[in-house]
Amino acid sequence: MYKYRGVNISIVEGDITKIESDAIVNAANNTLLGGGGVDGAIHRAGGPMILEQCKRIGGCPTGEARITTAGNMPSKYVIHTVGPIYKDGKQGESELLYRAYYNSLKLLAEYNLKTIAFPSISTGVYAYPKQEACHIAVKAVMDFVDNEAGIERVMFVLFSKDDYLLYKDILDGTICNKLD
Ligand code: ADP
Repeated sequence: MYKYRGVNISIVEGDITKIESDAIVNAANNTLLGGGGVDGAIHRAGGPMILEQCKRIGGCPTGEARITTAGNMPSKYVIHTVGPIYKDGKQGESELLYRAYYNSLKLLAEYNLKTIAFPSISTGVYAYPKQEACHIAVKAVMDFVDNEAGIERVMFVLFSKDDYLLYKDILDGTICNKLD
């Protein structure tokens, strides 16, 4: 575990639908109507209430975030955010990915929630290079902690050992205050 300005930051290898947190983040698409990857897993595990609420919300622009119940999952809420589809890195992808993380954290704070779990947004079907995506994720979290109070724990939930080790490397090199 890591600590940055009093906020616990941790990495876990596993399935985000099993995590207990105030909110888990879904790497959704603009329709919010479900898809493959982590999006499909969240809708399957959470049940139909999530889709019902997503339909009422009516979609989400890239880089923004929306909130629903987590249905049958152990967490309370799902924050749906839409990361960019990676083309060549010259279409504003990094800014959009940054905003997806940052706006998810803003929504968490708006709802007075304290703990959040992120998957590696955009690095699956949306093909964002993993190392750069990880740097952006960590920077967005640290910037948020620098600017806003209230959150207590940020967890990065990685679906593969390789992703876990990548995050570990980058966090080891970024955050000085490492615990255990
Ligand atoms: P995107 O379309 O934003 O790229 P994907 O769902 O395709 O979203 O992939 C994002 C990341 O989520 C990938 O690293 C993928 O391995 C991971 N992932 C897939 N299923 C799960 C899950 N159940 N829990 C956590 N991460 C997952």
